Amino acid sequence: MQLIDGKEVAAALRREIAAEVEKMVADGGRAPHLVAILVGNDGASQTYVGHKEKCCGEVGFRSTVLRLPEQTTEEELLAEIARLNADDLVDGFIVQLPLPRHISEQRVIEAIDPRKDVDGFHPVNTGRMISSLPSYLPATPDGILSLLRYYRIETAGKHCVVIGRSNIVGRPMANLLSQKGWDCTVTITHSRTRNLKEVVASADIVIAALGKAEFVTADMVKPGAVVIDVGITRVPSDKTKSGWKLLGDVKFDEVAPKCSFITPVPGGVGPMTIISLMKNTLKAARREIYG
Ligand code: NAP
Repeated sequence: MQLIDGKEVAAALRREIAAEVEKMVADGGRAPHLVAILVGNDGASQTYVGHKEKCCGEVGFRSTVLRLPEQTTEEELLAEIARLNADDLVDGFIVQLPLPRHISEQRVIEAIDPRKDVDGFHPVNTGRMISSLPSYLPATPDGILSLLRYYRIETAGKHCVVIGRSNIVGRPMANLLSQKGWDCTVTITHSRTRNLKEVVASADIVIAALGKAEFVTADMVKPGAVVIDVGITRVPSDKTKSGWKLLGDVKFDEVAPKCSFITPVPGGVGPMTIISLMKNTLKAARREIYG
């Protein structure tokens, strides 16, 4: 069994991006500029935005965080988005989700100029992705593809079972792995799937993205399978200073000995997600997708 080290791969890609930025600036260009809009006081969102800010600093990007109060109206947020769409000094921006309940996430996502939609959530980008056209890929699936590439994991003709069908992870992941170049035979599963255990046990590659701690057990995994664990669930723990720990969707200790490759939680898929956001922002700054 080989452990897929997301931290190592993320560090390697971070160095590559930093070198590209250094060259851009040395050639007289400006550093890519990423803006994050954070509405309200959600603790996890603040942590995620903090990590994104830190990573921007590490690769040499300019980063701005717009912190808006919880009571911000949808109209005020849409006005802010219109301003960023028109600002030539902003290459890409993200609106950190979830948003307060009085704001429609879909309206907000669709208000972002697809050319600056570095989260890759706008229907223009998802539509282009499905058509195999250049687009900003959603960060988590793109991060998983980077891991498969880095470890030279064979995908052609393999049966990949994706557990979960969310817009940000499961569905784009299933679509991308079915595309030419990756060439998996993909089964996408969800909470209404029958015989899930048997379906997962037939997989050469399992992508677990359902958000249920330790759901995938050893009896569900074929010997030699590749297991990618996307799930992150915080559970109380008396062994950590913080009083909680993170668990993945896979029961790591019993599944790992059966696998050819497996990602740990934390330190697997998680560190890759931010790197993919950085890759998209670099592409935006270079006008690589839309010219
Ligand atoms: P989500 O929107 O809640 O979607 C969960 C999906 O799992 C749904 O499609 C749901 O099916 C399916 N599901 C739930 N219970 C199931 C069951 N018992 N059997 C089969 N399928 C089941 O979640 P998400 O946003 O995709 O995130 C999934 C997990 O990944 C979460 O733990 C999240 O924190 C984590 N995550 C990690 C990263 C990272 O960077 N590592 C990034 C994003 C998300 P239905 O559609 O039928 O309801």
